[in-house]
Amino acid sequence: MAGIYIHVPFCYSRCSYCDFYKSTSFDLKKNYIDALCQEIERSAFFNQFSKIDTLYFGGGTPSVLSVSDFERILAALTQKMNLSSLQEFTMEMNPDDIRADYVDALMSHGVNRVSMGIQSFEDKHLRLMNRRHSASQAIQAIEILKQAGLQNVSADLIYGLPFMTFNEWQSNVEQMLRLDLQHISAYHLTIEKNTAFYDYLKKGKIQEINEDESVKQFRFLQETLTQHGFVDYEISNFAKPGFYSQHNSSYWKGLPYLGLGPSAHSFYNDCRFWNVADLSKYIHGVTHDEVYQEKEVLSSIDRYNEIIMVGLRTKVGFLLSDLEKYFDGALLEYFHQVVHKQIKKKHLLFEDGRYFIPDDKRFITDGIIAELFYVED
Ligand code: SF4
Repeated sequence: MAGIYIHVPFCYSRCSYCDFYKSTSFDLKKNYIDALCQEIERSAFFNQFSKIDTLYFGGGTPSVLSVSDFERILAALTQKMNLSSLQEFTMEMNPDDIRADYVDALMSHGVNRVSMGIQSFEDKHLRLMNRRHSASQAIQAIEILKQAGLQNVSADLIYGLPFMTFNEWQSNVEQMLRLDLQHISAYHLTIEKNTAFYDYLKKGKIQEINEDESVKQFRFLQETLTQHGFVDYEISNFAKPGFYSQHNSSYWKGLPYLGLGPSAHSFYNDCRFWNVADLSKYIHGVTHDEVYQEKEVLSSIDRYNEIIMVGLRTKVGFLLSDLEKYFDGALLEYFHQVVHKQIKKKHLLFEDGRYFIPDDKRFITDGIIAELFYVED
């Protein structure tokens, strides 16, 4: 099983919380598509993994692509693989880009899942986040997707926002449930450097919410969605049975994937690769056959930390046999020492050969992971 991620690095505006790589100028859009098609054409990944199960267009804002842009990229991909064997083909879309004719065209080319950034159903939150759409536009956009016959729709929400009251969060979750979607991703706000929120924070215009409120919002989310038939299969991801994101699940299972486009990451043959996070340098590198990618061969410690971090963010955790398969000696000895303390505190459970975090401790997932990490002196 292998997946492909395509990074579309364009947005009409910058959301206040976002540090993903993107450009708000579209001057290089055509050059980007030319370079992307060349990168696809040349990639050695396809020689090794001819069967691709998942394809994911993320960004940035993939829904800025016109149908003809999209067709050019798909034509380059179909030269390399048979798209009809795909199990899941996801496109991230913003609510204000959703039109019935556009959705029909994407679906006719095989898109069978849409992930939509809604973030909040309160217009004042949307303005604070500098989102381009209103709450009612988001609700209408979901309606258009349903009328088009799309049966696998995911939407994102953000919690832990400055000024967000518990009641507002409650009504966001309840509104999301009324939309009757198959998948919901909910992320706690993290204020990253190089974002408008970071500036607001430095200038004292906003404050981070306190930990008790964060925990209360997470617990409400977890309890409400699970009561309504969603499985909290990953710390930020909730799905109706049968609708787990296959593409993202393959990242969490350590399966190979290829990332294409500026700033995209890949993982295969025990190596991580990442493309330069600069559109001009990416285009120049690809079109002039110069280096635009860095590579890191994962050490045993990197792999150990990755199994712990990625595994424990999922409901099913990780298999002890996976650690034993890859590691012996000092690393395993270290693991058994640190894991024992977490089991004693009931922060971790061990059943059927798997370590996992019990549901009532999932709000401290990051702390538990940090306790198990191996940090070199
Ligand atoms: S959140 Fe999405 S739409 Fe907003 S700036 Fe980031 S990538 Fe663009």
